[in-house]
Amino acid sequence: MPELSTRTAGFTDSVIRRMTRISNQYGAVNLSQGFPDFDPPKEILDRLAEVTKEDFHQYSITWGAQNFREALARKHQHFTGMEIDPNREIVVTCGSTEAMMAAMMSVTNPGDKVIVFSPFYENYGADTILSGAEPIYVPLIPPSFRFDADVLEAAFKQHPKALILCNPSNPCGKVFTYEELKIIADLAERYDTFVITDEVYEHIVYAPHKHIYFSSLPGMRERTIMCGSLSKTYSITGWRLGYVIASPPIIETVKKVHDFLTVGAAAPLQEAAVVGLNFGDDYYADLHQKYTEKRNLFLDGLDRLNISHTVPEGAYYILLDISEFGYESDLAFCERLAEKVGVGAVPGSSFFKEPENRYIRLHFAKKNATLNEALNRLEKFREKM
Ligand code: GLN
Repeated sequence: MPELSTRTAGFTDSVIRRMTRISNQYGAVNLSQGFPDFDPPKEILDRLAEVTKEDFHQYSITWGAQNFREALARKHQHFTGMEIDPNREIVVTCGSTEAMMAAMMSVTNPGDKVIVFSPFYENYGADTILSGAEPIYVPLIPPSFRFDADVLEAAFKQHPKALILCNPSNPCGKVFTYEELKIIADLAERYDTFVITDEVYEHIVYAPHKHIYFSSLPGMRERTIMCGSLSKTYSITGWRLGYVIASPPIIETVKKVHDFLTVGAAAPLQEAAVVGLNFGDDYYADLHQKYTEKRNLFLDGLDRLNISHTVPEGAYYILLDISEFGYESDLAFCERLAEKVGVGAVPGSSFFKEPENRYIRLHFAKKNATLNEALNRLEKFREKM
């Protein structure tokens, strides 16, 4: 047999998705892979039922159905104050996973460097490898997860082609402040670097923190390649609807990459999701309230267990410090947690470049009953671990 590609030799499978399989195997409450167990908005589901009987069964325009892009442009303008051209500044993709891959392939050549903050969402590592780029990791330092501006500048001095910014951040829950974003923007300008943003948690931010769109910083619109998604905002992770928003010259290239990667996102699902993109402010206020409640419920429960943890400013992930248990492998800890306690978590090491073994990640995008069940099970976890 010939050898398989060297490009993929260093890959493992996704640990996040592996933990879902392990959770299912043990019947654990799965708080590993971040997706909701509550229903998407009824209006979207009702429209989906209608769409099956209408004429949406063939390809839509490869870079996204016209009405979807128009609705997205309106929504984006509403939240950012920036007018965008639905024909020249948007590509609809199969989830933000494809958006990120298409962005990476559009801006990097093999051997180019890309700055990635650590901890980071595990796909970014694979994205850089698949596109032939080389990551330069810059630590976000616990417990505040702030970066050291000098360390960041040292990374920029290696002349990276792009920086990946996940804001609000998975897994650490950080919401970057204006001052932090301005440091990044100034460096991107000075060293002539693209900024690829992952802003899929744009609407899940806890008061008093606020989401600032990177492209809204002075001079950044032309450099920013925003990857977004409907997954988290409308609780439809399985629909795989994401998008890239960027300036017309960048989008020209992203369109081509996307066309050859996947042709297009599912036409009936785009059509049904337009209803969501057209929701008014109430929807986002309710979403905010719902997640704030879940966050408080879960954090209170964890506090009763007396275990130290991060307090997310945005997104729906919490890192728990498990160092007191003295495990050498956080993966072994998570496997045992799923088996003996019945709660699925992701080992923190899959997010850190540094040899970090003291965290596990849980998420709270679940029904309150599911969260309470997980907390009940966790009550006994000191005895069982
Ligand atoms: N972003 C989610 C997480 O971090 C889901 C990842 C995925 O499996 N696509 O868990």
